[in-house]
Amino acid sequence: MDPRTDPPTPAAPSAERHAQRTLLALSPAELVALFTGLGAQPFHARIARENVLRKGLLDWNAMTSLPATLRAELERELPILAGREAARSTAADRTTKLLLEFSRQAGRAAAVETVHMPSLALEHESDERGGATLCVSTQAGCPIGCPFCASGQLGLARNLASHEILEQYVRGRALGPLARSVVMGMGEPLLNYANLAVALDAVHDEMGLGSRRVTVSTVGFPDRLRKLAPGRPRFQLAISLHTPDQEQRDELVPAMRGVPIEEVLAAGDDWFHETGREVTYEYVLLRGVNDSAGHARRLADRLRGRRASVNLIPYNPVSESPYRRPDAAAVEAFRRTLLEARIVATVRWSRGVESDAACGQLRLRGAR
Ligand code: SF4
Repeated sequence: MDPRTDPPTPAAPSAERHAQRTLLALSPAELVALFTGLGAQPFHARIARENVLRKGLLDWNAMTSLPATLRAELERELPILAGREAARSTAADRTTKLLLEFSRQAGRAAAVETVHMPSLALEHESDERGGATLCVSTQAGCPIGCPFCASGQLGLARNLASHEILEQYVRGRALGPLARSVVMGMGEPLLNYANLAVALDAVHDEMGLGSRRVTVSTVGFPDRLRKLAPGRPRFQLAISLHTPDQEQRDELVPAMRGVPIEEVLAAGDDWFHETGREVTYEYVLLRGVNDSAGHARRLADRLRGRRASVNLIPYNPVSESPYRRPDAAAVEAFRRTLLEARIVATVRWSRGVESDAACGQLRLRGAR
């Protein structure tokens, strides 16, 4: 399969939604129909969704704003969530990583990771509202195959349904209020965009997470980005670049082999002109691979004059991986080169390193 031209086709969202009847898998209209069928009022359905999406209540019995008899019936009739929490790890900085398992769709089960990072856990991104940042997955596994990424090592199992993406937000909200979200977990969001868009609509409209507080990170398929931009998507865009050199990007982001970096950057420029929002370029720093002074200078040359910023992410070591994290001095030198070229650059250190926090590690451990 070539993910550039032949992406895995997501099952129609409605077909997936009915695979398992849960509160999140039903549309608001379907929920009203179910509630009235149980003899409740339509506004009870709205209260139920609010309790789950806004307040993070995951237990019918905790929803005291609903009549007790209705709660008892819902307890029997309608699970709220489809997934199962298969593992949880919490780091000293209170970063919590969940491994969620979803049932089979088209013969394929899904195990994905969701990470909840309270603002105190973020050294470089403290949030004035004091809520957490949630990192969300869009696919079980990933077809892009980046050699430094644990998710990429397992390939793609399947796309997540929209309610499975939304469930990650709901479970994250249950751990504490959310201030931001990054769609940077497992998977390539633009290869499951139809389902992601449905979930993000609910996140925006019903959970109240504004579009500037949601960032979607992609490897940057130019054609797909250009199709999205006129629709004014409700998120900020991040593109994972990882190197200024074409040959090296072909190795580090294998599914983009043959897509010129300049085309990706041009699509980012078009995005800015269409949406008025600057693109952030993500750059995972790998010691001795893409962290040299030359890489920094060539990256600056690529981005000079563009309305964009850079997010430097020192690699989070994965056991059995040959890649290593650069030391702090090398990271700072790289950043300074960009700053001297008047390119805004920030460093995002991954957190919770001691407890399976690298992308895909909980799932890899489970798979083994
Ligand atoms: S780094 Fe992102 S795009 Fe690359 S394999 Fe991992 S999840 Fe996929």
